[in-house]
Amino acid sequence: METMSSTPQSQQWFDRAVQVSPGGVNSPVRAFRAVGGTPRFMTSAQGAWLHDADGTRYLDLVGSWGPMLLGHAHPEVIAAVTEAASRGTSFGTPSPPEVELAEEIVARTPVDLVRMVTSGTEATMSAIRLARGFTGRTRVVKFAGCYHGHVDSLLAEAGSGVVTLGLPGSPGIPAHVTADTIVLPYNDRDAVTAAFAEHGDEIACVITEAAAGNMGVVSPLPGFNQFLSETCAAHGALLVSDEVMTGFRVTRSGHWGLDGAQEGWRPDLLTFGKVMGGGFPAAAFGGRADVMALLAPSGPVYQAGTLAGNPVASTAGLTTLRLADDAAYARLDDWSAQARALVSSALDDAGVPHVVQNVGSMFSVVWGLTEPVHDFAGVQRQETHRYTAFFHAMLDAGVYLPPSAYESWFVSAAHDDEALTRMAEALPAAARAAAAA
Ligand code: PMP
Repeated sequence: METMSSTPQSQQWFDRAVQVSPGGVNSPVRAFRAVGGTPRFMTSAQGAWLHDADGTRYLDLVGSWGPMLLGHAHPEVIAAVTEAASRGTSFGTPSPPEVELAEEIVARTPVDLVRMVTSGTEATMSAIRLARGFTGRTRVVKFAGCYHGHVDSLLAEAGSGVVTLGLPGSPGIPAHVTADTIVLPYNDRDAVTAAFAEHGDEIACVITEAAAGNMGVVSPLPGFNQFLSETCAAHGALLVSDEVMTGFRVTRSGHWGLDGAQEGWRPDLLTFGKVMGGGFPAAAFGGRADVMALLAPSGPVYQAGTLAGNPVASTAGLTTLRLADDAAYARLDDWSAQARALVSSALDDAGVPHVVQNVGSMFSVVWGLTEPVHDFAGVQRQETHRYTAFFHAMLDAGVYLPPSAYESWFVSAAHDDEALTRMAEALPAAARAAAAA
């Protein structure tokens, strides 16, 4: 589908990009393959707004896929980063900002020790290695529709770009690598119990998104994560809670703040990314002291990174987290609730069956269904062609949504009344487009 917005500059950049990189992008979903049209090349961003190469201003509901908790180019973050960069961009030695960032993460989450890496993929990959090293076991349980980065063993039935592009997994991953991955339906306790009954003494860990955000937003059913924690403990396996997306976003201590902290349990390992880098490549994994102690150099499980704990990235993350106070989280939650209500009433008015699903301020729409869905099979029953029409109508009206129905929408503490007004103006026509699709 072509859009009505004027995109000659973005089109020129895209034409150049496809000459020098596969599909013209450096991460697949950016290419608009599922929705069609010209990917917008952004040239600047401020607060809740993006500006593209053709000078169009968009309300941003992607937030760089999660990191921009405070909005773009927050003045205090930019000042701190500029100051840090002026003192040198990488030392290859320990430096104070990475210690302060680790202290902030330890203070907010249930981890005793934390190791910095540079992407969420590295965080989950390393957590899996550590879980295998700790338990001496090889099998890993994951859930269909959950995405944990492009780790070989975790791409089976993955969400995010893998489902958006309709890929069965990926060529290039040897069968023996995925042979140790057990994929189960999300939120299915019986399936978990059965897998442990059969393979209990071979399972190194269960990895789960703390709340699924990569098949659209699908919350764990009440008590599901606690059940995973107890089941793992009963069988000597570890629970790895992937909070790359939810961490420092759905509460100040991530999704764990909504369940584990209330219910009195904690995952053995957690992974983080996105918000903790403030828009720079920074991620981390952490957890129980006895497990983390196995990492080199204190233990034998090897893991390393030239730019891990980078001082500029750590400063961006640290400044972001220090500014992310209770008032900021309250603003996010409030704006998200108002936006969800606007979306829902526009779709109701246009007669589009839908369910808006959220976890904290993260949300997405299930198209063409009227009951909430709790797993990958459920979200795959939706009518994604309605989203394609809706997406382009919103884009034409200056609202930038994720270019796939299988992704969360992200808001920031900079989303204000002007942003809500832009939503309210754009929604009626977009809802009619979804109805007509
Ligand atoms: N885990 C989850 C839950 C994610 O959402 C993502 C990225 N969307 C990743 C891991 C991988 O992170 P990265 O893209 O930084 O490698």
